[in-house]
Amino acid sequence: MRATSSIVFLLALLALPAGATTFTMISDSALADQAALIVQATVLASEPAPIAGPPSTDYFFQVERVVKGYVAGSTIVVRVLGGIGTDGIGLRIWGAPSFRQGERSLLFLEPRGDGTYAILHLMLGAFHELQRGDSRLALRNLSETVEALSVTAGETLEEDLLDGPRDFEAFVEWLSARDRGEALRADYLLRLGDGDMPVSGDPRCTGLNFRWSAFDRAKSVQWSLDIPRKRGPAGRGFFDEARSAWSRASESRIQLTATRAAGPGAGFGSADGVNALLLGDPGDQVAGEFLCSAGGILSLAGVWFDNGRSQECHFVEPGVKGTFRDQLFLEILEADIVTNDGSACFFVSNPSGEAEVLTHELGHTLGLSHSGVVDSIMRGPVHDDGRGAALDPSDRAVLGQLYDISE
Ligand SMILES: [Zn+2]
Repeated sequence: MRATSSIVFLLALLALPAGATTFTMISDSALADQAALIVQATVLASEPAPIAGPPSTDYFFQVERVVKGYVAGSTIVVRVLGGIGTDGIGLRIWGAPSFRQGERSLLFLEPRGDGTYAILHLMLGAFHELQRGDSRLALRNLSETVEALSVTAGETLEEDLLDGPRDFEAFVEWLSARDRGEALRADYLLRLGDGDMPVSGDPRCTGLNFRWSAFDRAKSVQWSLDIPRKRGPAGRGFFDEARSAWSRASESRIQLTATRAAGPGAGFGSADGVNALLLGDPGDQVAGEFLCSAGGILSLAGVWFDNGRSQECHFVEPGVKGTFRDQLFLEILEADIVTNDGSACFFVSNPSGEAEVLTHELGHTLGLSHSGVVDSIMRGPVHDDGRGAALDPSDRAVLGQLYDISE
């Protein structure tokens, strides 16, 4: 029975904190335990967060069912890092979930200090409802492949096997029972059929391409590393491996230099002109702590851009970005990488895993999105198989599209 063996396979995978890049797959139990609030809710509206802090997006959700915890009203505001600030400066975070108006979701949340809620572990804490025939599926958008630049035809695309779909209602019932202290069998996992890959995200804001123009002028981009003097997690040596990998793949067109920071940069707190690598989420910008026993978000990367003083998500209008090879691009003004608190347990004694994670995140800061290609360094889950900073031909191909590098 193919379906049965697939489910067994999925359960086996989910039982392990499998290695991953920006994330390792978190178990449903751990996610539920970490959440202060779990709700089934539908998106009423979204807008740029009206705050002076980091560019964020507010989603207004109509709560339909409280699965765990307590919520005072019938609507909540969920604030997601990334978006366009009040000054028109935008921040693109790879892995931050986005939602369509009218979309039903299952959300794992924790309260923020300002009365809004944060989604635990970015896209790992957000399930999107997908109707397929008589079934209502709950799916996470882990790959973001819809936003990736085109991949070369004929490459093997990854089935989303690390995270199969769930039966929405059965999953909610399981979570509910768990919250009451009852242990139900986790029989809500389904097999993903062909063509059922989740497609989500705000259609107004997808399809963006980002690139640096500095490399066109033979200029380098300088990074500031906030790393302990003794070679700790995300050590200088691994960052050097990561930047060398991208430099080699670009025939040295991409030049990234690294200095030790005098103090920590702002990370995703504000656009400060410093390309910073920060360890351990010092600004508490990632909701949820990485635990080696449970998984979660390891690290994240983002780029800053100028949206022409507008907060409207209408990037396709010319004038606010340049064209390159007949494609529209937003120019990257600054990039940051933040590793999650708790992620040191993954990096310690795992030099190749660390080199791979940093190479993946540096790839984002060069403008690369997630890839659905199995061997790509840009796929969401880390391979953690000893490959370290090694790039796949598909990575070099996308880099070539971005920076006009002949193969
Ligand atoms: Zn990533």
